[in-house]
Amino acid sequence: MKMVYGPVPSRRLGRSLGVNPIPLKTCNYSCVYCQLGRTAHVTNQRQDFFSPEEILGEIRSAIEIKDGRGDGEIDFVTFIGEGEPTLCKSIGWLIRKTREIADVPVAVDTNGSLLYREDVRNDLLQADVVMPSLDAGTAETFRKINRPHHEIGFKKVVEGMEQFRQEYAGEIWLEVMLVKGINDSEKELKAIRSRLEKIKPDRIYINVPIRPPAESWAIPPDKETIALVHAILGDGNVVDIAAEETGEFSIEGFTNPEDAILAITRRHPMREIQVIETLKKFKAGNLHDDLKRLKESGKIKKVKYREKVFWLAVEGKRGKEYE
Ligand code: SF4
Repeated sequence: MKMVYGPVPSRRLGRSLGVNPIPLKTCNYSCVYCQLGRTAHVTNQRQDFFSPEEILGEIRSAIEIKDGRGDGEIDFVTFIGEGEPTLCKSIGWLIRKTREIADVPVAVDTNGSLLYREDVRNDLLQADVVMPSLDAGTAETFRKINRPHHEIGFKKVVEGMEQFRQEYAGEIWLEVMLVKGINDSEKELKAIRSRLEKIKPDRIYINVPIRPPAESWAIPPDKETIALVHAILGDGNVVDIAAEETGEFSIEGFTNPEDAILAITRRHPMREIQVIETLKKFKAGNLHDDLKRLKESGKIKKVKYREKVFWLAVEGKRGKEYE
């Protein structure tokens, strides 16, 4: 399995089978809080990075494995990407085909930047849930936090989301990522609220960086600020997901522990305890040796972020402070 992974625990989606239709860190943003590191390939060009038929083949296999076991383990098939999934120009075809073969809802986790394009809006109309992000209420903050491709303007992004709301009958679960000192002032939060009033998401999720981000200074706001956020954005539909997720990582499709840990950490920094729990599932060898070998491979490294130890893939570029 290269482009389909999981199911993995998700704070919003339960057990989510992830579909990644684009290469690692290919995005039109380079968010300061991105857990994949700084964007290596900044592009705004939609294309097929991988064969759509191959991606669908992987989805089909993953669904067949689950169906064969009959344990109902998947709550959502989620197009999520190691970057921005709507940059995949066949995403509409993939969503349609997935719905034909899988009896589970389809979600798209997107930065929402391309919703100003009619082709992207049409592609996403077929999903059950679309989860865009909006982290800024003003163009200046948008540039600071999301560091977008030069073709992407704040006005265009917001208008695209408003237009999509008018055309889309499914659920919009919008996420606001809060970073201390960047978008957590009262003024900025009120500006975000005024944008949300027009986008009318069905749910608003408030999130904070909980795993090592691209820039180590991107840290969560203080607790008092989170209360302010609820007061300003909250009208009963704001859900706080700024907590550690629970649940285990699936090792399905992996025959050895190293491959499993490397594949998971490429997409998702893991707390040390999660690495140990995942290694235990292979029931072979000595955990201490496995961890040592992983570190010595030079492909993953241990970092500290906000007093917690994480393991992450070396290939994601981050600030020097992580060296
Ligand atoms: S957080 Fe998402 S939108 Fe932002 S840089 Fe990372 S992959 Fe791109």
